[in-house]
Amino acid sequence: MAAEFQVHRALETAGKRMGHATISCSPKGRVSLAVVKFNYLLMSAKIPVGILGATGIVGQRFIQMLEHHPWFEVTWLAASDRSEGKPYAEAACWRLKTAIPPRIAGMRVSAATPDGAPKVIFAALDASIAAEMEPRFAEAGCAVITNSSALRMAKDVPLVIPEVNPDHTKLIECQSWRRKSGGFVVTNSNCSAMGLVLALAPLHKRFELETVMAVTMQAISGAGYPGVASLDILGNVIPYIAKEEEKMEEETRKLLGTLNGAGVVLAPFKMSAQCNRVAVEDGHTESVSVKFKKKAEAVEIVDAWTTFRGVAQAKKLPSAPDVPVRYLELSDRPQPRFDVDSGNGMTTTVGRLRPCAVLDWKFTVLSHNTIRGAAGAALLNAELLKVEGYLG
Ligand code: NAP
Repeated sequence: MAAEFQVHRALETAGKRMGHATISCSPKGRVSLAVVKFNYLLMSAKIPVGILGATGIVGQRFIQMLEHHPWFEVTWLAASDRSEGKPYAEAACWRLKTAIPPRIAGMRVSAATPDGAPKVIFAALDASIAAEMEPRFAEAGCAVITNSSALRMAKDVPLVIPEVNPDHTKLIECQSWRRKSGGFVVTNSNCSAMGLVLALAPLHKRFELETVMAVTMQAISGAGYPGVASLDILGNVIPYIAKEEEKMEEETRKLLGTLNGAGVVLAPFKMSAQCNRVAVEDGHTESVSVKFKKKAEAVEIVDAWTTFRGVAQAKKLPSAPDVPVRYLELSDRPQPRFDVDSGNGMTTTVGRLRPCAVLDWKFTVLSHNTIRGAAGAALLNAELLKVEGYLG
């Protein structure tokens, strides 16, 4: 009996480690090995994933967000030659408030080549490197779910936010990699387009956008690590971020555009963005003015935001926030210091809705740039791809 009890305890511990608390006993105290085996199979059914650019700011967010993920398990990390072969904790200059997960800390950083890599890759590489490397992984049969801008505007590459345009994943079938090896590339938007599009999507659907003007105040973590030199940014505002305004303008229109066979017809509104870097750690704040084709009252606009839900919520994707967009009535919010972590960094906060003397309405948007604007966005896309059957 004592031995049986010990076996039970050992299996119970194993079961808890697997995240399943359903170890069962027969009335006589015998452990149901079938249930344990089933739970083990469930655990080992987690999809192995790799991270390209694992040591960077976005790579670190991936590691943090994937630590307890119910569907995905990090089995491979890659970065530049500088990091290759080193234990992760030595290669990465860890910049997050939570500790490096112990299992990851000792993992060796691999060379950034598809040999030995798992079939699902989260990518967080600089665009110039990604342009050459992401196609190589897709060609080798990998699902590449990327943050980089390199392929975002390519005709057959989906640029996706699950709450906004989940149907655009169909473009995967138009990719030559998909036909040859099964591999494909799916992208998420630039970090400043992300918050803006989540705020605009419910409004575009109801009132049809005619003109959008957005001025950003973007956090320094958006520039990666080590990013902007402290002497350049402390007590300062830098009114230039290379290629950011162009990315915001075109990506916003692709995300809100219409799938048309083998491509996306860009949404037809006019859009102007001005991008600034400010001395904030995390969180991009944006002052936005909009003109609609249809008449909109303030109460209807707030209702459009607060009732907005998408496939991510309907399918209860593990990283989906309950509320993708929340509206704050307080006159001096949103602020990065208080609101950036809303919905675990996945909720976009909107406030200060008021009439605009030039266009129709103006408001303020805040979104977490390395979570909703980067790693969290890619993770939510991967969850959508999984439920759609693209990840095997
Ligand atoms: P980062 O902090 O500079 O990290 C870059 C990563 O790329 C590091 O892991 C680096 O490895 C790796 N790398 C550099 N050269 C490489 C090479 N030749 N081969 C393989 N790996 C290489 O940049 P980040 O902020 O994480 O941004 C990554 C991507 O996400 C960029 O395209 C960026 O535009 C995009 N993005 C960033 C944000 C944000 O808020 N930060 C938001 C949205 C999108 P080593 O450590 O070994 O050098």
